[in-house]
Amino acid sequence: MPNLSFVSPTRNSPWGTYLSQIDAVEPYLGKLARWVETLRRPKRALIVDIPIEMDNGTIAHFEGYRVQHSLTRGPGKGGVRYHPDVTLEEVMALSAWMTVKNAAVNLPYGGAKGGIRLDPKTLSMKELEKVTRRYTSEIGIIIGPQQDIPAPDVNTNGQIMAWMMDTYSMNVGATATGVVTGKPIPLGGSLGRVAATGRGVFVVGREAMRRLNVPMEGARIAVQGFGNVGSVAAKMFAANGAKIVAVQDHSGTIVNDKGMDMADLLAHVAQAGGVAGFKGADHASNESFWDVKSDVLIPAALEGQITAERAQRLQTRLVLEGANGPTTPDGDAVLADRGIVVVPDVIANAGGVTVSYFEWVQDFSSFFWTEDEINVRLDQILIGAFKGIWETHEKHRISLRTAAFTVACTRVLEAREERGLYP
Ligand code: GLU
Repeated sequence: MPNLSFVSPTRNSPWGTYLSQIDAVEPYLGKLARWVETLRRPKRALIVDIPIEMDNGTIAHFEGYRVQHSLTRGPGKGGVRYHPDVTLEEVMALSAWMTVKNAAVNLPYGGAKGGIRLDPKTLSMKELEKVTRRYTSEIGIIIGPQQDIPAPDVNTNGQIMAWMMDTYSMNVGATATGVVTGKPIPLGGSLGRVAATGRGVFVVGREAMRRLNVPMEGARIAVQGFGNVGSVAAKMFAANGAKIVAVQDHSGTIVNDKGMDMADLLAHVAQAGGVAGFKGADHASNESFWDVKSDVLIPAALEGQITAERAQRLQTRLVLEGANGPTTPDGDAVLADRGIVVVPDVIANAGGVTVSYFEWVQDFSSFFWTEDEINVRLDQILIGAFKGIWETHEKHRISLRTAAFTVACTRVLEAREERGLYP
């Protein structure tokens, strides 16, 4: 199975998961399958050492990565993740999923991702700023508005993007707003960007529910992860008549058969830092989250959550992947056997990078759109992309994931073929 000497994926690890998704799409690529090995190798992977002086005077070193999986259809594009479990293998998989995601919604980008192996909760703001600035400087040799454009991902936000934009700009001697997206509005950020990923999860979920005849009114929704993606998606589902019956985050799991009040829960989380302690629901064990009866289950946290064992227990009709890579290949196989439909990450969570694209375009033209214009264009792109994927799924009788990969990988490999090999 290992296709590269520098990682040792297993079947259900992130890169192993991605490789098995490529194996599944290969038969649907026709003559382009000649180029498929391109997708099994990142174009470029940079590992950097990030030394900083801590507040107490000691020197700490962190491991950072930026992987450009593909630059075939345009500059690299994808977030930066801060997490203690980040590895090169994980960032490779996340960068490859960005290639597929960007092509699935037809954005003019390749795919990239970055990460630093650290727990941001253990650092002061000053230390976090130093790590961010040094990391940006170190990867400065491969990023840029025309080369590769980072953005927020797990545990990174507008503040971190502001430091990245400033560091890059200081190094090149010119203000380069287009080097990162997900920036604060005064620095060339876009309206609608913060909510875009969660909004996209809702819009794509609504499209899938319509086709599966799952009514929105009273639909039971379970959400794992209550960060930027899960909380916005939950709020939008609730505002459209659905019931949020279970929420899990780092602090615990809460359930309420009648549905929770989202305004109250959001206010509680803003104050308490997590869902634990919320008065409007009962507390449950973390593992019992996977047994809750729902119509739609939204994993919006990390990879590898829906294992074969959990997939066997799920009582839902639709899995809507807000996170990147939340379902393992073994989990996917069990869900398919059980007739549970999976709307894959590469379309379900593509709203974030779509508004990142709008932000980048606005920065280049120095002309900014209204929030309404952004949301209308976002919805149009996602609805159109989902329609194409649904039709491919029906035509070939393949899963929505393999259909999304068919649409996306065909675009990437057509571009690869048209460009030809250099030299
Ligand atoms: N990190 C987000 C994702 O996984 C957004 C990437 C971006 O906006 O470039 O899609």
